[in-house]
Amino acid sequence: MGQRSALITGITGQDGGHLAQLLLEQDYQVFGVIRGQSNVKKSEFLDEYPNVTLIEADLLDSASIIRAVEQADPDEFYNLAAISHVGYSFKNPTLTLDTTAGGVLNCLEAIRLTGRGSSTRFYQASTSEMYGGLDYNRPGLGYDEHSPFHPRSPYGVAKLYGHWITKNFRESYGMFASCGILFNHEGERRGLEFVTRKISNAVARISLGLQDHVELGDLWPKRDWGYAGDYVRGMWQMMQHSEPDDFVLATGETHSIEDFLSQAFNAIGVDDWHPYVRRNEAFTRPAEVDILLGNPAKAEDVLGWKREVDFAGLVSRMVAHDISLLDGNRSS
Ligand code: GDP
Repeated sequence: MGQRSALITGITGQDGGHLAQLLLEQDYQVFGVIRGQSNVKKSEFLDEYPNVTLIEADLLDSASIIRAVEQADPDEFYNLAAISHVGYSFKNPTLTLDTTAGGVLNCLEAIRLTGRGSSTRFYQASTSEMYGGLDYNRPGLGYDEHSPFHPRSPYGVAKLYGHWITKNFRESYGMFASCGILFNHEGERRGLEFVTRKISNAVARISLGLQDHVELGDLWPKRDWGYAGDYVRGMWQMMQHSEPDDFVLATGETHSIEDFLSQAFNAIGVDDWHPYVRRNEAFTRPAEVDILLGNPAKAEDVLGWKREVDFAGLVSRMVAHDISLLDGNRSS
């Protein structure tokens, strides 16, 4: 077999970086779709991954995605691009619809219209936000591939379209198209707009005397937080499986934002985080997802997937990373 090739949209995002690294280690030829003109992350990304070939294209421009598929001729196509922040999606619902929902269709059509419907495998980044935290009728067991969906944000609603159109192409055209329903996955590459990285960064700054508090919204919601590096391995395993299917990736544990705060402040030797945290309504949401807990049994049984980093390991690794990053910046 010759060298395998993969095309990744959303390559400059958290998962794109982890996945590019994993595929390069396995000697794939990796192509990444990047929005050309205004992407501030481009040069930074190329410094880190000089062996990734970037293709300028936009999920909103179907012809550009067709050209990207023709250039990369991928064995595997990972669609990780999206307007991916829940809070942002409330403020920009139409852009979220066009990108996060319509963009998936543009990818699938690009594969089909270029005659690659039976040769290119497609991965769609579905999300636990499709469950919405309601209908939580099996406490302790968690959501699995059969749980009902009830998205609670423009982001979740758009992702649900992406999920179903991917299944529809699988059923209609026999395409190898799989959806990974991933619960929250975090790490050193997470954007500061997400609560985990916001906290790890703030805790690092507080420990270095660079700030004295952090402003947050609601602290009671619970999330099933895993490590992104573990989750991209699961994506890849889905693409190697004998048939296309949908899989939940999760840790099977759920923790509140308060738990995350305790763990993060513990990492810098602070027992009581309350003096360092203030509430700011601006970070609350019009509709909240109260609790997310995933059940990864199918991925574990069928794919042999297993997460390696646990909650405590995730938090301490994020805090340690932010401390060393800030320390490095101070001394350089
Ligand atoms: P999400 O689960 O995809 O929405 O990931 P986020 O990291 O953005 O949010 C996780 C949870 O943290 C949600 O319940 C938010 O309402 C809550 N939260 C509380 N304060 C903040 C904050 O300051 N920023 C963000 N992003 N989320 C916050």
